[in-house]
Order: sequence, then structure tokens, then C-alpha cells
Amino acid sequence: MQEKGKKIGIFAGSFDPLTNGHLNLINRSSKIFDQVIVLIAVNTNKVALFTADERLELIQSVTQDIENVKVETLKDDLVANYFEKVNGTAMIRGLRNTQDYDYENNIDIINKKQNENLETVLLYADNQYRYLSSSLIKEIATFHGDISDMVPKQIETAMKKKYNYPSTEN
Ligand code: ADP
Repeated sequence: MQEKGKKIGIFAGSFDPLTNGHLNLINRSSKIFDQVIVLIAVNTNKVALFTADERLELIQSVTQDIENVKVETLKDDLVANYFEKVNGTAMIRGLRNTQDYDYENNIDIINKKQNENLETVLLYADNQYRYLSSSLIKEIATFHGDISDMVPKQIETAMKKKYNYPSTEN
């Protein structure tokens, strides 16, 4: 029988910022794959709040206790090429609702056109995080709202700095 290598799951996204929903998916995928790579992809359609390097540092700090997770940034390449380069097993994506379904469906078709070996594993969002999105959190933060149960502590602190929360709210 053919020797099988390490199963590598690649969770690519903007993570601007990483939410508790993303973190939940990272934790769950770390039990399915031998190694999970959180891949920060620079999304050309979105104006970023955090630079890729800031996101890298924050996500590394949030995931440091999950031993089979590593974080990387993808700057000048397609996810499909990266997948090939690291000998990925599957892409990991999250499914919150039917909108995500339609979006992920298109991404899968496009990815397969670039690399026919690219498989995607979709994980349902946990019920308690299903409503969470990075853009919603940014909107709340713009008006200095409470985001404490939406993002990990390190991210909350960084968000409060970006949005100049008054220091009493820190
Ligand atoms: P992108 O710009 O690639 O959509 P995101 O950072 O918004 O990047 O999302 C990355 C992945 O995480 C997507 O598959 C998205 O559906 C999933 N995701 C986003 N929010 C949640 C959540 N609250 N729970 C589970 N998965 C989520």
C-alpha cells in the first residue's frame, strides 16, 4: 500500500480581524488534520484594517498553544499554487449560511480550474459564532461598542487601539 504523508489543512482567509468563529474552526480542524496552516491571504477587494504582518503576529499569539497550527501570509501568489507547494491535503473553509455556501461554491470552482487536485473541506460554523463576521466587528468597533465576546483578548486590545477607544474602556 502507498505510504500516506502528513495531512495538511490550509485555512485561508483575510482574518481582518480573526474572530472567535475563525478560532473555533482552527481548533476543530487541528483535530482533523496533522497540521493546520492558517494562511493570511491579501484580499485585493477589501481595504485592510490590519496589515498582513500585524495579522500574522496577532494570530500567532492567539494560536500559540495549539501545537499543530502554524500561521503564514500569502502575498504574491495564488492559494492554489501555495497549496501545491506545501503539498496540501485540503483547503478548510467555514460555512455560516447560504450566502457563504454560494460564495464557497464559486471559490471551489475557481480553485479547481487553477489546480485540479485542490480539495476543500467545509466546516459548519458553530451555532454560537454563526452571526460573527470580521466586517460586523469592525462596524461595532467604529462606534466603540463591546466586542469582548466576539474576538480573542489580544485581538480586542489591538482593535481598541486601531479605533482609539477611550482608555477607560480598555
Ligand atoms: P475571506 O475574505 O476569504 O472570505 P474571511 O476571513 O472573511 O476571509 O473568512 C475566512 C473563512 O472563514 C471563510 O471560509 C468564512 O466563511 C469563514 N468564517 C468567517 N466567519 C466565520 C465564523 N463566524 N464561523 C466560522 N467560519 C467563519
